[in-house]
Amino acid sequence: MVYRLEDLNWMEFQKLVPKKIDTIILPVGTIEAHGVITLGTDVQIPQKIAEMIAEDLKAIIAPPVYYGVTRSLYHYPGSLTVTSQTFENYLYEIIDSMAEKGFSKIVVINGHGGHLNELKNAAFKVHKARKAKIAVVHWWILCEDITKQVYGVAGGHGAVDETAGILEIDKSLVRKELYKKGMAYKFDEALSVVPVPSSIILYKENEGYPDFDEEKAKIYMQKVAEKIKKMILEVFRKWDALKL
Ligand SMILES: [Zn+2]
Repeated sequence: MVYRLEDLNWMEFQKLVPKKIDTIILPVGTIEAHGVITLGTDVQIPQKIAEMIAEDLKAIIAPPVYYGVTRSLYHYPGSLTVTSQTFENYLYEIIDSMAEKGFSKIVVINGHGGHLNELKNAAFKVHKARKAKIAVVHWWILCEDITKQVYGVAGGHGAVDETAGILEIDKSLVRKELYKKGMAYKFDEALSVVPVPSSIILYKENEGYPDFDEEKAKIYMQKVAEKIKKMILEVFRKWDALKL
């Protein structure tokens, strides 16, 4: 049984939290261009992962945060942003409020690389003030090995890994017919460019081009969810053993 915070009423919540459930999952991302997949990719994939792991984590799923800090792809049509400070404060206040309402374990599943420090700062502030235990998962980084295992290549942005996520959510959201291999841009640490000249960004030369195989995408997302679930459960076990 998966509980969504927005679907519960206050009396149901009162019975559940914290007596039966002390964990909440918060999906976070941003609205940003992602090649031939959706502007909401960075939120949709964390939401999907949350759905796949919530039951085993005995967690309630919180409504996602859709708006994050979009930087180098901001000027693409449809990309939206908030400032870094606004995002950090907003996330801090959301997580802090969750801790106050009885969640002692908070799992943030993040899908966007532009606000890693802001999430880290917000999580630490809540932990310091309330002793809540907080895990922030940057899913595509944590699962780089699975991208390698299933596709034999490194991932990217709007690339093979995120395309798999959106395929598994709803294949009609993947506009394969708009894709051309030449669209992709290979990221180089030594070259800062704004805007990045493609919203399909590869982390390794000639690797990570979108793959539109639905079966592979299903296997990939199952492995992704499985790895994240295992790692979080391991962290939970270690947290519990500390008796902090
Ligand atoms: Zn993304």
